[in-house]
Amino acid sequence: DVLLDLKDVRQTYGDGQGAVHVLNGADLTVNRGEIVALIAPSGAGKSTLLHICGLLERPTGGDVDIDGERTAKLADRQRTLLRRHLIGYVYQFHHLLPEFSALENVTMPQLIAGESQRDGDRRSRELLDAMGIGHRTTHRPAELSGGEQQRVAIARAAANRPSLILADEPTGNLDPATSDTVFSALAELIRQQNAGCIIATHNHDLARKADRIVTITDGRIQPATL
Ligand code: ADP
Ligand code: ADP
Repeated sequence: DVLLDLKDVRQTYGDGQGAVHVLNGADLTVNRGEIVALIAPSGAGKSTLLHICGLLERPTGGDVDIDGERTAKLADRQRTLLRRHLIGYVYQFHHLLPEFSALENVTMPQLIAGESQRDGDRRSRELLDAMGIGHRTTHRPAELSGGEQQRVAIARAAANRPSLILADEPTGNLDPATSDTVFSALAELIRQQNAGCIIATHNHDLARKADRIVTITDGRIQPATL
């Protein structure tokens, strides 16, 4: 059951002599319920790939189909709507809003997507419970540990029931034990929602827990083993 289908994706920055072909015929499929780890050296194009999958960047060429929708040539407005409804992001530095509680941080994207306060709050509570931090809903990010903050960020990424969750070094700043907990919580959520997930990471232990590992070599996606 294919969720994300990249075909012959190209991304070139600059032109003429200075052109950099970061992606050069990248193919990748991610199924529903599948977690794919993306491991590649710095500068190989991981962020570029995630930005393209997340509809933040338009590729120079190729197809990016999400949920059967051919997204690459859609108008910006349609891409924004799709992004809000289909995609959830988790970053290394969680970018939680410091002035707001954990609950408010998770409810916010739902309000932006048109959900009511009541339903949004209920959903946020469920998600924070599922992430094992149901007792931390009223705390602000600064009052939470790194692992707790990352779990709030994952709950926020999942708030609008995205089909695709994109995680860029989601455990980059955490110790190994905490990374484990955060990964398990993320994996559980992916299975529950039958979403697909790409995790870009330098952490080999974490990558081994994914269903599949890929890398970027010369602008193409290749299977990888560790
Ligand atoms: P990481 O290697 O941690 O994924 P980034 O994706 O932030 O780091 O950046 C990797 C490299 O790509 C950096 O050298 C950065 O300057 C460059 N880069 C990223 N985004 C842009 C951009 N929008 N414009 C110009 N350069 C960028
Ligand atoms: P990674 O995340 O694997 O470190 P990136 O996707 O950030 O790699 O970057 C891949 C290459 O593309 C780097 O050489 C980077 O400097 C370049 N790059 C990324 N984004 C831009 C951009 N917007 N403009 C120009 N160059 C970019």
